[in-house]
Amino acid sequence: MKTLNKLHHQLAESSAQLAILDDDAHLYSLVPFQQKLEQHNLFPLMATAVSIFQVNVGKMCNQVCKHCHVDAGPDRKEIMTRDTMQLCLKALAANPSLHTVDLTGGAPEMNPDFRWFVEEIKKLDRHVIVRCNLTIIRANKKYYDLPAFYKKHAIEVVSSLPFYTADRTDRQRGSGVFEDSIAALKMLNEVGYGHEGSGLTLNLVYNPAGAFLPPPQDALEKEYKQALMQHYGIHFNNLFAITNLPISRYMDYLLQSGNYEKYMEKLVNAFNPTAAANVMCRNTISIGWDGYLYDCDFNQMLDLKVAPASRHISEFNTAALNDREIVINQHCYGCTAGAGSSCGGAVV
Ligand code: SF4
Ligand code: SF4
Repeated sequence: MKTLNKLHHQLAESSAQLAILDDDAHLYSLVPFQQKLEQHNLFPLMATAVSIFQVNVGKMCNQVCKHCHVDAGPDRKEIMTRDTMQLCLKALAANPSLHTVDLTGGAPEMNPDFRWFVEEIKKLDRHVIVRCNLTIIRANKKYYDLPAFYKKHAIEVVSSLPFYTADRTDRQRGSGVFEDSIAALKMLNEVGYGHEGSGLTLNLVYNPAGAFLPPPQDALEKEYKQALMQHYGIHFNNLFAITNLPISRYMDYLLQSGNYEKYMEKLVNAFNPTAAANVMCRNTISIGWDGYLYDCDFNQMLDLKVAPASRHISEFNTAALNDREIVINQHCYGCTAGAGSSCGGAVV
């Protein structure tokens, strides 16, 4: 779709006034994110101190979710090699302040070196988060022991479950995903995940199924806990309510459904300066499957590499990264609307 390509190009290229010509040749514009930050004395947006090392180990996934910002799926071939993982380990070993390693994908478990990488990171005594899509645990016999593997290494598991009913979850993630997700959650509960006092953390992620912002996280968490316990006997720790960012497949959906303009207006009108001051990119560095560095996973998908100095894991320089200016664009409104949004849910 010609308009789509043009839009992605604009998002990636420019932080100036965004002007988009839609299918009906309707011209509209939005307040540039930079200008919004300037109005609140938040520009330039600077990193604080990097403590979270987020690694995208590949774009391959057993699912093809409608909202996926990675555009992941079974046919994606981009996979982090063991050599690049070695460079990540070297950077971690040299920088004890990187206390948390957040592994994402695709389905990170599909990288053939996933388990080796986790074991090597644990030798460096770091907290490890795995963004597990749940269905991978049930996808193939070779993954059935993942709950035991996670437990052995005290990994924090963060899993997307767009809603606590089958229809809404399957609409977003594919037919049968809810049933498999519930079965996988039960397997995680069986080894202790999600139970108070077990020390094994299982967090779930909600994201809206349409062009709207997430409801308040605390109230939604109570709703999820009640429904999942009552109907399936499922335990979990926290619910992260995440806003969909207008990029990749979700952007396609917004454009195709004619919701792009309305959605962006919602995000802009809900701009919250406190959320903007606490965006996750200030203490996170995101490493792509090929070792390039980004301010966050979203910038990674738009190929907006980190500002000059230390652009690749082979030249990892904490001092330069701690003092960098964050690369921003219109999609950043997704992180600053309402209670804000990050990989750990609401930020305020
Ligand atoms: S949202 Fe997650 S589970 Fe779904 S396709 Fe993307 S990476 Fe895979
Ligand atoms: S998308 Fe969010 S996390 Fe990424 S650079 Fe923008 S504000 Fe930061």
